[in-house]
Amino acid sequence: MSKVRHVLGISGGKDSAAMAIYLRDKYPELEFDYYCCDTGKELDETYQLIDNLESYLGKKIKRLIAHEAEKSNENPFDYFYKVFKGYLPSPQARWCTNMMKLQPFERYVGTAPTVSYVGIRGDESREGYVSKKENIQSIFPFRRNIWSEDVWKKFFANENEEKALDIFSTVNGASDLDRFKNALSIEIPKDFNERVLAQKNLHKKIDSSLDLSIAGMNKVIFEFLKDTNYSLSLEDDFPLLENEDVLVRDDIFKILEESGVGVPGYYNKIEYEVDGKKGEYARSRSGCFFCFFQQKIEWVWLYEQHPDLFEQAKHYENLDEFFTWNQHESLDELTEPSRIEQIKREHLNRTGREKSKGSKFLLDILDDTEEESCISCFV
Ligand code: SF4
Repeated sequence: MSKVRHVLGISGGKDSAAMAIYLRDKYPELEFDYYCCDTGKELDETYQLIDNLESYLGKKIKRLIAHEAEKSNENPFDYFYKVFKGYLPSPQARWCTNMMKLQPFERYVGTAPTVSYVGIRGDESREGYVSKKENIQSIFPFRRNIWSEDVWKKFFANENEEKALDIFSTVNGASDLDRFKNALSIEIPKDFNERVLAQKNLHKKIDSSLDLSIAGMNKVIFEFLKDTNYSLSLEDDFPLLENEDVLVRDDIFKILEESGVGVPGYYNKIEYEVDGKKGEYARSRSGCFFCFFQQKIEWVWLYEQHPDLFEQAKHYENLDEFFTWNQHESLDELTEPSRIEQIKREHLNRTGREKSKGSKFLLDILDDTEEESCISCFV
């Protein structure tokens, strides 16, 4: 019987869905609680994916609704839209994520020691969401490095060096000890002005440690956690310690297709034409249909493929107050015929450039804003 709770958030996107399938199939001994945070404004394909996933997993995915909105008759986004007096969320004022995703998640978890699984892929360089609550530990099963940065920082802290060496030689024997000492000797500057170098060196240090042996290093970290407050300190064993899989985008699509759960329809490429040339567009991620993180070409996709939803998105804009989804133009301006052509032309040029660089995925091009996007919404 596990002493910690294992929770897995389903965003409605491809990565978290594939992660649920992968972990259930590979580690049936882990008892997962699945949840999703419903904003009430997802595309139908997202809700379909969640239903398909429930059938595959044979377990309910708990729909989390923001507590305040639960008492109202409105769906969560519309409820908060009124609370915020029509002030639309934006990358700088992301009340939507906070009110409809993070708070319901933290309330759902409560105070029990919890491991939360995050679907950042092995081919992504972003760090991923780590809760600030002490009882929630994040694990990244698709990456070579399953641990969060804060765990490594603690492990590499100067005062823990002797302990780290001790655990390493107990777990892995003395043969690689010198190489591990070399990894430990990589300096992480403390000066704020050197934070870029500090981050670079932290990753160098992590990579050099994992280069010795992923499973071996995982066991060292797991042992080290025993004297900490991290949730996994309560466990006698953790099956993912032996896992050396690194899953990338191709693997995700394969898992979804082979399981029968399927890839959400909005990832399917659709052809468009501009200046007599053909291009392809799609939506790159799950999330609210009006999400302000989407690219201009995705707005055009919404306008042309889901005109009803585009109309709904338009209704939230208030031009008198300058409340628009995009910083410098309203949705009416964005859908002027000449503007649509311009957006498609720019997209076509960009995709052409990326293809000539060797990228085979349209989603690579659409996904290049992932770094600054809402990780707790899309993974
Ligand atoms: S998908 Fe976009 S609009 Fe919806 S909650 Fe997340 S960040 Fe906000």
